[in-house]
Formats: sequence, structure tokens, C-alpha cells
Amino acid sequence: MNTVDVLAIAAHPDDVEVSCSGLLMRMADQGYKIGILDLTRGEMGSRGTAELRTEEALLASKIMGLSARENAELPDARLTLTENSREVIASYIRKLRPALVILPTGGQRHPDHNATAEIAYAGIFAAGLKKFPVPGDIHRPDRILYSTSFQQQTPSFYVDITAQIDRKLEAVAAYRSQFGEAGSTNPVTKQDMESYILNGARSYGLQCGVEYAEPYWIKEAQRIDDPIKELRLNSI
Ligand SMILES: [Zn+2]
Repeated sequence: MNTVDVLAIAAHPDDVEVSCSGLLMRMADQGYKIGILDLTRGEMGSRGTAELRTEEALLASKIMGLSARENAELPDARLTLTENSREVIASYIRKLRPALVILPTGGQRHPDHNATAEIAYAGIFAAGLKKFPVPGDIHRPDRILYSTSFQQQTPSFYVDITAQIDRKLEAVAAYRSQFGEAGSTNPVTKQDMESYILNGARSYGLQCGVEYAEPYWIKEAQRIDDPIKELRLNSI
């Protein structure tokens, strides 16, 4: 199995594409190896089958240039922090050995998304415990970012994804069972999803002086030694 530099963890195939695929692709464009760990196959979703969503995820992975995409096959719509889910995450962290992990923030509408943040954090912590009983050498990523796309939460920073926005839309459009053509029975069409992503990214872009951006939140305060050079801010 390939190891990766950056790993995004999410509940359902298409969650990463919609939320933080711009940063993932930007990191890949800069030469980093990127990967995704989907916790479920989305088998409880109202549209599409698990098989179809797996095919769609494969296509999206190609578009994004992933080095690895794993599925933990935890139960969709029933994601909970248990001894088993913590062990599953810990074993993937030890195998994939990311330096940076991207998680969803809590406080979202879908309980699986909230559970993902909790399970992933607990699993990442466990992966670094010498005596934790899962295979592989201990490992902990140094950094965890939380993607705040489409949430009412003030981000800690933005990432310019202007060069990646077209591929982000393409990766999301790979999920044809989720976002159908106009006139299809899907309540959210491909066109709706495109404007949702473009409008969001444009409004984040306006906040930081670029065309399109993605928002991220970090739990910890950073050490800054030279605020003039290191803080890229327009406070007024
Ligand atoms: Zn989801």
C-alpha cells in the first residue's frame, strides 16, 4: 500500500470532493502524495448503490490524482466512536502514514460527518500509542486541519484553489448518482452543486484576495515570530 503525505478522512464517498479537494489537488500539484480514507460506502444513501458510488469514487480519484484511496467499510448512517472504529482508523493511519490529515468539523447536519471528526481524532491519537493493539509501526500526523466548507464557522485560514477549481467541479461531477443532470429526479442537480461550490469558493476568495478559495480551521494557536512577514492578513 502507498503511503501519503496528506490524508483527507470523510464519512461518504464525495464528501472530500465537495469540501477539501481543492487543497488536496493543490498539494499534489506541489509534489505531495495525497490520499483519501472514506469511512463508509454510502450504502444507506437514498440515491445510487454502493457499487455505483465505488465506481464514481474511482473516477473522481483519477481526476484528483490520488496516490491512495481506502474504504474502511464502517456502517453508513451508524458511524459511532467505538473500540472497533478507533482501531480501524488507527490501522489506516499506521499504514498510510500521513504528515497532515484533513477532517470535517463538527456541528454539521449529517450525524456521520460529526462522528467522523470524533472517530478520526481518537483513531489518530491511538495510532501513536506504542502498545495499541493494531498492526504497523506507531505513527501520528503532525497536523490536523478541519475543512469548514459550507459551514457557519469562522475559518482560521484560506487556501487559494483558483488553479484547482475546474478539476474540483469535475471530481464532484463524477458522482452522477448523487448530482444528476437538470430535469433528473435528484433533488440536487449537477448544476446546483456547481453553483454551490463556485459561489462558496468565490466568496471565500473575496475574503483573501484571490479568485477561488477553500476555508480551514485549526484547533491550536500557532507560534509566530515575525507577524509582519508571517501573518498574511488584510485586517482593515
Ligand atoms: Zn457525507
